[in-house]
Amino acid sequence: MKFNTKAIHAGQEPEKTSGAVMPPIFQTSTYAQKAPNVHQGYDYARVGNPTRTALEKMIAGLEEADSCSCFASGVAAIDAILKTLRPGDHVVSTNDLYGGTYRLFRQVFEPYGIEFSFIDMTDIDEVKSAIKDSTKLVWIETPTNPLLRVIDIAKVAKISSDAGALSVVDNTFASPYLQQPLLLGADVTMHSTTKYLGGHSDIIGGAVASSNEEFMEKIRFQVKTSGAVPGPMDCYLVLRGIKTLHLRVQRSVENAKQVVDLLESHPKVEKVYYPGLKSHAQHHIAAKQMNDFGAMVSFTLKDDTIEKANEVMSNTEIFTLAESLGGVESLISHPASMTHGSIPREVRLKAGLTDSLIRLSLGVEDAEDLISDLKQAIES
Ligand SMILES: *Cc1c(COP(=O)(O)O)cnc(C)c1O
Repeated sequence: MKFNTKAIHAGQEPEKTSGAVMPPIFQTSTYAQKAPNVHQGYDYARVGNPTRTALEKMIAGLEEADSCSCFASGVAAIDAILKTLRPGDHVVSTNDLYGGTYRLFRQVFEPYGIEFSFIDMTDIDEVKSAIKDSTKLVWIETPTNPLLRVIDIAKVAKISSDAGALSVVDNTFASPYLQQPLLLGADVTMHSTTKYLGGHSDIIGGAVASSNEEFMEKIRFQVKTSGAVPGPMDCYLVLRGIKTLHLRVQRSVENAKQVVDLLESHPKVEKVYYPGLKSHAQHHIAAKQMNDFGAMVSFTLKDDTIEKANEVMSNTEIFTLAESLGGVESLISHPASMTHGSIPREVRLKAGLTDSLIRLSLGVEDAEDLISDLKQAIES
C-alpha cells in the first residue's frame, strides 16, 4: 500500500457489530468479562481501548512500525521513552531541541540521575565523540525547532546502533508523510500528535512507534503503569485528522515555498531558515531523507530587535500569533519568548536562536492571502 492509501486504510477495518466505517468512540473505563480474565482483548481502559487501538494501528502503518502506543501528550510520550532508562544511563541529544523536551530532560530526568549531552548533531564528528560506554539513547529531532537544521538520520542512527544505543527520532516537525525515520535506520519514532497528525489544533496527544518489540514491551508497561493515556474522543479526532494528512501537508508545503520566495526577496528580511533553500547548510541531507521540505519557516529581520519582531507578529491578521504548529491555520510565533522561553538566554544564543527570530507554521489557506498578510506586517 502506498502512503496516501495507508492514511485512509492502514490498520482500519469496519467495526464488527455494526459495520461502522469509522471506529466508534468507545467511551468506557472497563469491559465485561465472561469469566475472570476471559475477555475480548480489553480488560481496563488505561491498558487499552478499541478507539485508541485503531489510532495506534494507523500510526504504526504510516511509520512502517510493527507497533505504536499513544499517549495523552507528546511530552508524555517522551516521558515514557525516558523512563525506560536507569540512573547512570547517558543520552546524547541535539542542542536545537523542542523547549518542552529540553525542560523534561534537564529538570525531571537529570535530577533522577540520567545524564545528557546536548550537541550539534549536524556535525557527525561531534556525535561520535559524545558517545560513551553508558550511552543508551540518542535523541534526534529533525528538522529542528525553530532553526530547521537537518540531522542525517541514517548516519546518526548507524553511530547509535554501533554503540549499542537506541536512536529515537522526534518526527513531529516532518510528519510521516515527509519523513519515515524507521526506514532510515532509526529504532524509534515519536510524535506530538497535537501537530500534523491531529492537524486541526483541537487535541493534545503523543505517540511512540517502533519495530523493536523488546522496547515496545517497555513502552506498553509505561502505558499500563504510569497511565498517561489519551481519551477515546481525542484518539478519534487524531484518526480523523490523519485521513487528510497527505492533503494538508502537501498544501502547507506549497504555501511554505511561496512564503519563502517572498521572504527571500524582501529587503527588510535578513535571513530565511528553510531546508528547501539551496543555501541551507543541510539542504542535500533534507533532499535525501525527506519527501519534501516541510511547512515550517523561520526568519530574522534586518532591524534585528525584539521590538520590531513583536511589531510584525502583532500586525498579522491571517497568521495567528500562537504556540504550536501543524494545524490547518497558519501560525506565527516568537520562539525566544514563547516555545523556548524555558531555555536560558545564553544557551539559546549559543544554539543560534536569536531574540528576533520569527517562526511560521504554514497552514492550508490561499498562498496569496498569506503572502499579502505577511508583507503588510513586515512593512508596517
Ligand atoms: C509540540 C512538540 C512536542 C510536545 O508535544 P505536546 O503534545 O505539546 O506535549 C514535542 N516535540 C516537538 C517537536 C513538538 O513540536
